[in-house]
Amino acid sequence: MSATLFDNIGQLVTNDPAGGSDALGILSSVAFVVESGRVSWVGSAKSAPPCDSRVDVEGAAVIPGFVDSHSHPVFAGDRSEEFAARMRGEAYTGGGIRDTVARTRAASESQLQANFQRLVGEFHTQGITTFEAKSGYGLTTEDELRSLAIASTGTDEVTFLGAHVVPPEFSGNTDGYVELVASQMVPQAAQIAKWVDVFCDRGAFDVDQSRLVLTAGIEAGLKPRIHANQLTRTDAVLLAVELDCASADHCTHLNEDDITALANSNTVATLLPGAEFSTRSQYPDARRLIAAGATVAIATDCNPGSSYTTSMAFCIALAVREMNLSPAEALWAATAGGAKALRRTDVGALVAGSRADFNILSAPSYVHFAYRPGVNLIAATYSEGRKL
Ligand SMILES: [Zn+2]
Repeated sequence: MSATLFDNIGQLVTNDPAGGSDALGILSSVAFVVESGRVSWVGSAKSAPPCDSRVDVEGAAVIPGFVDSHSHPVFAGDRSEEFAARMRGEAYTGGGIRDTVARTRAASESQLQANFQRLVGEFHTQGITTFEAKSGYGLTTEDELRSLAIASTGTDEVTFLGAHVVPPEFSGNTDGYVELVASQMVPQAAQIAKWVDVFCDRGAFDVDQSRLVLTAGIEAGLKPRIHANQLTRTDAVLLAVELDCASADHCTHLNEDDITALANSNTVATLLPGAEFSTRSQYPDARRLIAAGATVAIATDCNPGSSYTTSMAFCIALAVREMNLSPAEALWAATAGGAKALRRTDVGALVAGSRADFNILSAPSYVHFAYRPGVNLIAATYSEGRKL
């Protein structure tokens, strides 16, 4: 068994509050050892155990790999024209999702797989070492299963989102489509996916329809998560808490009851600032959530319509500038917060026993993500101890 010492780390973000000053658990002038894909030791370089090899990071900052708990990377085509129209003043309605559905259905498996692998490559380049991937652009049993199978080639965090929008062939018959999703798609999706999700919002599925889909998923062995309150306030967040969803995502429109419910639950509020940026919408009030005691995550929401980014650093910069998170809160939300939103304890931190997923930065401090927006500061990314 070979051990590698990562030495001369100027700033190490452990996300272990026991190890340092705040939630980030920052340690200075330290080293750690990686063995068999896991961190086996963290401490002062002077007391490092003997290792087979050594990597000198030359005083750089090292952070846990980003955990992206919300993405839609299985699709075909792009919607740059729709984006341009929005920037000229047209409102976002979610209707463009059907354009991507038509292109995804028409694409070959190899086209979909190639586009997915391209985005996985981007995730890695941007320092994302764990990502969740949803279906939701097929919307027939066959097309949804195809998307789930492609997603499963890149991640274990596969989410069935058959209830993304109502497909055109069910126009005017949302209940009929919900019945198809719950009774036919869910049992087969559960063979591949880990999670079930639903877009519970104006123009998509209401709270009762969403409860039907999520409950069917839970009965089939899937774990629930939800798109909640992006376009308007509904009882979607309350449904998320009622069903113990791992995460309620977007949370753009919340009232006091929603915030109190989240704060008293195991449901993470996952904020997607790339979506507000790309739809020119108001940002969620992250400070109210944190002040109430809710757990906050940040994710990319990578999708071709409302947030076509794979850059967690960009999302951190937006969260700091537009949602009033501190740089430390934003980094925590993009690493440990994402892990909590996926109910993972092996990623999102760098302590003895953690998966050796980490980024070496070309910067002395994590603060640079917001301080130097638009600059790729990821010098090297490691997944289970292997350089990507
Ligand atoms: Zn989404």
